[in-house]
Amino acid sequence: MTSTVALIGTPLKRRHSGVMHNAAFSHFGIDARYELRELAETGLPEFVAEVREGEWLGFQVTAPHKQAVIAHLDRVEQGAAAIGAVNSVINDDDGGLTGFNTDASGFRHALTDTLGATIDGSRFVVVGAGGAARAVVWTVLNGGAGEVVVANRSLQRATDLVADFADLGNMSALRTDELDVALASADVAVNATTVGMSSGELAFDVDAIPREAAVFDLVYVPPETALVRAALDRGLRVCNGIEMLVSQAALAFERWTGVSDAAPVMRNALEEWDGQSDRK
Ligand code: NAP
Repeated sequence: MTSTVALIGTPLKRRHSGVMHNAAFSHFGIDARYELRELAETGLPEFVAEVREGEWLGFQVTAPHKQAVIAHLDRVEQGAAAIGAVNSVINDDDGGLTGFNTDASGFRHALTDTLGATIDGSRFVVVGAGGAARAVVWTVLNGGAGEVVVANRSLQRATDLVADFADLGNMSALRTDELDVALASADVAVNATTVGMSSGELAFDVDAIPREAAVFDLVYVPPETALVRAALDRGLRVCNGIEMLVSQAALAFERWTGVSDAAPVMRNALEEWDGQSDRK
C-alpha cells in the first residue's frame, strides 16, 4: 500500500517540497507520495487523526502551524522544543507522532558546508524574528556564536526572541531601521524574513557589511533575490535558501525512510523543475 507524507500550512504556494520528496521516493523505489495539504489551524485535529489512522510515514509543517502543531503530537524532540517550532513529524513504530526540526540542521549544513562560514566566535546579524529566525538563532548560539543581533520590523518580536534564548549566549534586539551599525561589525548577515520573495526589496543594506563578511538569504523563491544579487555584486560570499531547503528535506526523508543520501536527487529534481511557475 502506498504510504503518504504531506506538507501542511496556509497558504501553500510553493511546490518545491513535493518535487524533492516525490523525486526521491521514485529514485529509491519507495512506494510513497508527498502531498500538499492547505489547511487552517482549525483543521489540525482532523488532519492529525487522519495521519494516526492511515498509512502515513509522517508529515511536514510550514507557516503558520509550526508552533500550533506541537499541541497535537505525542513527543517533541529536544531541539524542536527549544526552538519552539516543529517542521517535521514522524509516525513512529509505536503509532506515536514525534515532532522534530530539520530547519535548524539544514541551516547549519548550508551555513558551514555551502557558505563555508564559521559559527564558533562569529558575530551574526539575523534579520527577522519568525519561526525560521528562531531556528537560525538557536543554531548559531549552540554552535558558539560570539554575538547575535536580532533585528525585526516589529521590535517586540525580536525582543521576545532574544529573551527566549538569552541563556544561550550574547544577544541583543534591534529595529531593522537601526541595523547599519550592527552590520558594520558582522561576520555573517542572515535574512530570515520573507522580504525579497515577491518584491525587489532588500532586507538590509549590503553596503553596510564588511567586505570579508558573508550573506545568507533564507529565501529560495526566487533563487536569486535582490539581496543575493547585491551581495554578489559587492563581492561578498553568499548563500541563498535552496541548499537549506534541500538539506532540511533530506534529513526528514532519512527519518521517514532510512535513506541517508537523498540530497543529490532532491537538488537535481529542483534544478530540472526550476520552479519558474512558483515565482510569486
Ligand atoms: P514567519 O514566521 O511568518 O516570519 C516572517 C518574518 O518576516 C517576520 O520577522 C516578519 O516581521 C518579517 N516580515 C514579513 N514581511 C516583512 C516586510 N514587508 N518587511 C520587513 N519584515 C517583514 O516566516 P518564517 O517561517 O520565519 O519564514 C521566513 C522566511 O524564511 C521565508 O522567506 C521562508 O520562505 C524562509 N524559509 C526558508 C527555509 C529554507 O529551507 N530555505 C526554511 C524556512 C523558512 P514581523 O515580525 O514584523 O511581521
